[in-house]
Amino acid sequence: MAKFKRELPCGCIVAVDYDGNARVIYCSKHGAAPDLYDALGSILGYAEERESEILKIGGRAAKWYGEAINKARKALANAEGES
Ligand SMILES: [Zn+2]
Repeated sequence: MAKFKRELPCGCIVAVDYDGNARVIYCSKHGAAPDLYDALGSILGYAEERESEILKIGGRAAKWYGEAINKARKALANAEGES
C-alpha cells in the first residue's frame, strides 16, 4: 500500500510506501526504453557502416540520412548521460 502515489503526464506512476521505499511503475514507453536503446544502437551501427556511401549520393536522401544518424547519436548520448 502506497503512502504517496502520483501519476506523471507520460503515465509512469511514482509511489512511496509507508515503509519509505519508493518505486516507479513505468508507462509503456518508458518501460520499453531499454529495448529501444538497444535497438537504436544496433540500427545506428548499421547506418554508420553505410554512411559514407549514402552521403556520396547526396541530395535529400543523404541529408535525411545524416540528420537521422545525428539524432540517433544525440539520443544515445543523452541516454548515457553524455550531454
Ligand atoms: Zn513514463
